[in-house]
Amino acid sequence: MSKCSKCKGSGHIAKFGHVNAGVCYECQGTGQAKAKDGFPNRFPFWARMKIDKQRTTLVIDEAEALDKRNRKPVDGFVHREATHSPRKDYESVNPNPDKDDPKPMYLKRPKKTPKHLVKPHGKKLDMPKNLKDRYDKPRKKK
Ligand SMILES: [Zn+2]
Repeated sequence: MSKCSKCKGSGHIAKFGHVNAGVCYECQGTGQAKAKDGFPNRFPFWARMKIDKQRTTLVIDEAEALDKRNRKPVDGFVHREATHSPRKDYESVNPNPDKDDPKPMYLKRPKKTPKHLVKPHGKKLDMPKNLKDRYDKPRKKK
């Protein structure tokens, strides 16, 4: 695996110390270059669901998922979709990692969906420490 070109592998950029404590926006602090498909090399990471309204989703794990139609295994990321509507079994993420969004975010329970339904998140979002601690692990090598 190669080093991140933006932070030279340190995971931090000193001149952006005022933004997200200087955590490198390119590699999200991992110091590793991104995988070819544009996803970070470590879990968890923020992405968007391509379906519906391109909702923010927290991708927490890579695990086998099955195609709904032919039941064949496909590359899938286990993720937790984010919503603004609280429910008893949703996990509150407050403050919202999206600084432009004053409303708290609620994470739904984990779901498996094929990878092609998720795309890298173009926006800088803070990763709450409790979520990072819980889900942080490297992506599986193919
Ligand atoms: Zn970096």
